[in-house]
This record gives sequence, structure tokens and C-alpha cells, in this order.
Amino acid sequence: MANFRDLLKQAKQEIDETTPEEVQARLGSGADLRLLDVRELDEVQNGVLPGATHLSRAHFESRVEDVFPDKDTEVVVYCASGVRSVFSAKTLKDLGYAKVSSMSGGFSRWKDLGYDFKIPRILDASERDRYARHIILPQVGEKGQLKLLDSKVLVIGAGGLGSPALLYLAAAGVGTIGVIDSDVVEESNLQRQVIHSTDRVGVLKAESAKQTIKGINPDVNVEIHAFRLDASNVTDLIAQYDLILDGTDNFDTRYIVNDAAVPLGKTVIHGSIFRFEGMVSTFTPGDGPCYRCLYPEAPPPELAPSCSEAGVLGVLPGIVGCLQANEALKLIIGYGEPLVGRLLTFDAQSTRFAEVKVRKDPNCVVCGTVREHAHA
Ligand SMILES: [Zn+2]
Repeated sequence: MANFRDLLKQAKQEIDETTPEEVQARLGSGADLRLLDVRELDEVQNGVLPGATHLSRAHFESRVEDVFPDKDTEVVVYCASGVRSVFSAKTLKDLGYAKVSSMSGGFSRWKDLGYDFKIPRILDASERDRYARHIILPQVGEKGQLKLLDSKVLVIGAGGLGSPALLYLAAAGVGTIGVIDSDVVEESNLQRQVIHSTDRVGVLKAESAKQTIKGINPDVNVEIHAFRLDASNVTDLIAQYDLILDGTDNFDTRYIVNDAAVPLGKTVIHGSIFRFEGMVSTFTPGDGPCYRCLYPEAPPPELAPSCSEAGVLGVLPGIVGCLQANEALKLIIGYGEPLVGRLLTFDAQSTRFAEVKVRKDPNCVVCGTVREHAHA
């Protein structure tokens, strides 16, 4: 029966080995190779090779094909000393990777040679626990979760749309959430504005939202803006955030937000509701239409009654606000296909979704002069 030494010897015969010196030289010459760190998390905290991907041995076989889907990718595997990486390189070879090698001497040797390494920003134990279901998704991973934690999202209105959006953004770990709302909670809000509660009637909505968010996820930094958004304060406010989620209930505010967001290059995730119908779209300046391309002018007030005048099914903003939160997560992490140039409509009576293409209006008074990026 083979012992450990035999196994190592055998594996070494089947794979290629490279040295830290060779790796350093090849990286310096701009070679297209990927570094794969197979050490455990507590080892990685002290430094990794620049640009390396980390995949501990526990998840290696099940995850590596998600991390490197192209089996012609050149992969250099390393560990602390160059032993574990031999077995991981052998596994990669068995999985069909054509250009794999193990770096002899591992990270210790790399460090001894004085080569560059980076102290990675990683999730702490509690964050890893809280976001475990995200981290395991190949589209999110630890990297995506860190992006969420570093992101700043402004939610305009802590009402029907803002409520579910805020709940899910907070739970997902968006690091900084701004809430702008100058109203106080009223009893008639509670039929749909689920971030508030009966005992908070009379409390500022922004403050009430903050209390609920802190209960869900105390790590979220909540910034309260308890004033009315207008043309004089909108630019300063939205400039502080990466992404705007518009949950406002009136045309005036939507135009104020849109007209300030376009020159700042800020993406606005639009949501609106009317009785049983909802709409969602994402407006990214330079990459699609803006809100004014869709509605150049506000309809007369008699054609655009508010929820208090027309009524609204309580669950409808829950669905639309969740779709807005879904857009936000995609945009922050960078997977999937955003609703840019697409207007999604939802009918709560028939439970049907429909999608309409929305094109940028070259004569749009707001974004007509913004050059559209070439995109596939
Ligand atoms: Zn436009």
C-alpha cells in the first residue's frame, strides 16, 4: 500500500512544477495565467499573491469549474510550501485542465524571495456565517459579498416600494443605506409599508426604517435624510451614493432624481405602482434610456392620481420593491442582465409580467447629449 511519500512522488510525476522565480518572471512579462491559492482561510489572511483566486481544499473539486470555466486557462496552483498544491494540480489535470502547474516552495518561498504579496480583505467569521447562502453562490461568492458590504445605495422614499427594498438590501449586507423621507408613519401606510409598525405611527419614516434595518442587520450603516428632496439638494445627496433606488410616488420627484442622476452618471432603479399594476426599469446613463426618454413630460394630475386617491393593492409594492432590490444586487455584484432599456410591467390581477423595449430618445432634453456606450 502506498504511503504519503509515495502518493506525493506519484502525483509529482504526473503534473508540471514551476518555481516562484518563473511565476514572477512570467507575470512580469504579462503572461495570461491564473494563480490559484488552495490554502485554508486562516493562512490566506497573512497574504496572497497579487491577483490570486482563493479556493480552499474543502471546496476545491466542487467549485473550481465555476471559478475557471475555461479548461484551457493556464493555472498555477500554490499553497504554503508546495505540497498540497501538487495534489490540487493533479485534481485539476484529472478534471481536464490542460495547462496546470504547481508552484514549488509555495507562498513561503515566494515571500522569502521578497516578491510582492497582498493582505486580502476577507469576511470575518460572523459575516461568513450571516452571508453563507450568498457566498456559496458562484455568481456572488466572498468577492461579491465584499462588494455589497462596500456599496452605498440611496433609497428614495421609505414607503410602499422602499419598505421591501430596504429590508432586502439590509439583509443582503449593503454596507451603507441612505434613506430619504420627510414623512411620518401613518396608520393608513401600514397596509403595505412593511418596514414600519403600529407602535411607530407618528415616528419619522426614515427613523422607523433605520430601527427595523438595525434589527435585521446591525452592521448596516444607515444614513437618514429626513428632508424633502428638491432641485436644490438632490445633486449633493445622490452624489454620495453608488446607486439610486427610486421608490417615490410622484412624477415631480422622479424628474428631479432623473435630471440630477444623468449628469452625475448614477444609475437609477425605477419602480412605480398604480392600483394593481407595477413597473420596473433600470436607467443607466450612457447605457440606455433615462426616465425622460420614457416620459418626456408628466401627465396632467387628473391622469396620475396618487395611491391615496386611486388605491393600491398592498402586496403590489412588495413585489415591485423586491424586483428593484433584485436589480440593485445584480448591478452592485455584477452578474446577470440588468433591466436597462427594458420596462418590466406586472399585473397583480392576472399575475402576468410583460416586457417592453425602451429606447434612448436622441432628442431627450436630459440625456440626448450623453454619448451611448457601445455594448453588445
Ligand atoms: Zn433621456
